[in-house]
Amino acid sequence: MKYHNSILDTIGNTPLVRLHSVVKGIKATVLAKVETTNPGNSVKDRMALKMVEDAEKQGLLKPGATLIEGTSGNTGMGLALACIAKGYKLICVLSDKQSKEKMDILRAVGAEVVVCPTAVEPEDPRSYYSVSKRLAKETPNSWYVNQYDNLSNSTAHYEQTGPEIWEQTEGDITHFLVGVGTGGTISGAGKYLKEQNPAIKNIGIDTYGSVFKKYHETGIFDENEIYPYITEGIGEDILPKNVDFSVIDHFEKVTDKDAAVMTRRIAREEGIFVGNSAGSAIAGLMQMKDQFTEDDVIVVLFHDHGSRYVGKMFNDDWMRERGFLDEGHKVAQDLIEN
Ligand code: PMP
Repeated sequence: MKYHNSILDTIGNTPLVRLHSVVKGIKATVLAKVETTNPGNSVKDRMALKMVEDAEKQGLLKPGATLIEGTSGNTGMGLALACIAKGYKLICVLSDKQSKEKMDILRAVGAEVVVCPTAVEPEDPRSYYSVSKRLAKETPNSWYVNQYDNLSNSTAHYEQTGPEIWEQTEGDITHFLVGVGTGGTISGAGKYLKEQNPAIKNIGIDTYGSVFKKYHETGIFDENEIYPYITEGIGEDILPKNVDFSVIDHFEKVTDKDAAVMTRRIAREEGIFVGNSAGSAIAGLMQMKDQFTEDDVIVVLFHDHGSRYVGKMFNDDWMRERGFLDEGHKVAQDLIEN
């Protein structure tokens, strides 16, 4: 009989899929590392399990413990699966810009969800950073996971995601491109890839409203770079310890609109139903398209599943309200004509 002992054993070994239509005009081979086949439908299952296992090894988790995390949803889902398998409770603290689908999904797998306002400073007591820290202090037998500064996050990608990409491309990868939030994915996988071949370039995708690009290029943490944005999962108003700026060669910023429009195109033109940050990544890649040659092999990591965004970028009314739909129509029209 062939079976897995627990759902946790199905994490990883995600497919690499060549992209065609959405990368038309680029000379390189572009391969998507599609992380939606993880059981929680995102790459975050990998780091969530690693953070829990490392905490157990360090004696930080007692039986029946409550895990508390400020999460945009995907890490919460990964933690929920780990908590179910290992008998822990979970409280997820989300900002109110996160999609309703993400909150409903977390509740479906038994997590308690606390929602906080987005438009406040990180130090504000109402922010999700502050609320998660306070809950961790007040809840008995609890552990604050802290994906931003918990280095088991990037280690998971150093140990799994990086080696998988290296093996799947048989060492031919020249560029790794991915959205940056906590920084775990690019820092861990990017470090592993550069260790195999120092010529590999790691490109981070950032949003307008986030501090990463300016900090990377100037060393200045510029508060003027911080303002609310719509894109989910990437960009920050803090510098998480998991971002290893030394392994990142370049940051490219992408607008909310370009990310949303491209997310829809990936679903309709490639049949790959993935989330908002995948759209950011491909839109960012296409902004840079003239820099690549036919010898380049670019791996773009797609973090999560499109089902989490059906009420957002996949919803025409939501797109229209933000003035994002014009290109969407044009794409649909192009498809009908071609
Ligand atoms: N995309 C999505 C949808 C995410 O949830 C995250 C995690 N915040 C990222 C991209 C960024 O990944 P990382 O935190 O590893 O930088």
